[in-house]
Amino acid sequence: MIYLDYNATTPCDPAVVEAMLPYFSVKFGNAASKTHPYGWIADEGVEQARKQLAVLLKAEPQEIVFTSGATEGCNLALKGVYEMYAAKGKHIITVATEHKAVLDTCRQLERKGAEITRLEVNEDGLIDLDQLVTAIRPDTILIAVMYANNETGVIQPIAAIGRLAREHGVLFFTDATQAAGKLPMDVHHDQVDILALSAHKFYGPKGVGALYIRRRDPRVRLMAQIDGGGHERGFRSGTLNVPGIVGLGKAAVLAMDNMTGEQERLRRMRDHLERSLLGLEGTVVNGNKEQRMAHVTNLSFAHVKAERLIAALNSQIAFSVGSACTSASKEPSHVLAAMALGDGRIKGSIRLSLGRFTTEAEIEHAIGLIGETVRSAQMV
Ligand SMILES: *Cc1c(COP(=O)(O)O)cnc(C)c1O
Repeated sequence: MIYLDYNATTPCDPAVVEAMLPYFSVKFGNAASKTHPYGWIADEGVEQARKQLAVLLKAEPQEIVFTSGATEGCNLALKGVYEMYAAKGKHIITVATEHKAVLDTCRQLERKGAEITRLEVNEDGLIDLDQLVTAIRPDTILIAVMYANNETGVIQPIAAIGRLAREHGVLFFTDATQAAGKLPMDVHHDQVDILALSAHKFYGPKGVGALYIRRRDPRVRLMAQIDGGGHERGFRSGTLNVPGIVGLGKAAVLAMDNMTGEQERLRRMRDHLERSLLGLEGTVVNGNKEQRMAHVTNLSFAHVKAERLIAALNSQIAFSVGSACTSASKEPSHVLAAMALGDGRIKGSIRLSLGRFTTEAEIEHAIGLIGETVRSAQMV
């Protein structure tokens, strides 16, 4: 079996598992227990992870709040800003190609009175900065634009968006779940005010993530969405998932060493895979090819439905179609639809995402299998 669905989730790195293990048993303390060493030791693990993650984002440790993942992080960012900045306004700008964690949360806020502008993207999946500026109003409280798209890998112009948001005095939130641990990140350079990520997208465990919340220039305030005990400086109550948080910290450390080299290795394999499959007549790449994560390709094959490829190949290659990773629903991809790619191209699209444990031999094998399947499907 060849795993080419790293954008859906990644396996825990063995070093992450090793770092976590003691925190299930011998170091099992509650990080909030201040009266004995069990608590202190657990707390040390948490605070070390907070520092490790801060390094990855070039943030301060005190600006990190641990969550159960990016879905919770997106909810806290959007709902937390909406409730806290009600006096300023109720207008939020986001993008049609965001993850459901953002889009569904915006929909929910709309029911509570929020006004949402959903920016369109061009055929490449990129937003237009002039349209963003035009959309900003005096009552705009938040701009929410994802760092990199989970289906296409397309990277939005984050630093430019951050600059515009700052110029207009609007907070900027980015869902960086696909980019964190893969692209060098700097919340100050990019003028990001809030950033969400999930450990399991970069070789950490599932069910744990973090929200970066800027502490100064400006100090971001958020209304907590989970109350009870005041953990995480009141932003997110509940006993901390100490093993998970330790795993997230370790994943951040692993991501930092040789990030550039690993991205080059993945880009080489991805490009080879893509070039080979583009040799099949009528095959096209979906999304901007330059402004894109190195490990992912979203391709459409002519006259072949992706569902058919899945049926033929899913005992040999794990990959995904359309919005498979974002929801339990079977709707065609809202991302590709927003790129106005047309029905045939959307239905014929697959996403192949590579990762740390992908080998060249696997890529060769996948090229053969996919090529063969597409060709035979196109003959009938
Ligand atoms: C995976 C993903 C999420 C959700 O992460 P969870 O771990 O499921 O909470 C949010 N946004 C993007 C871009 C993602 O890829």
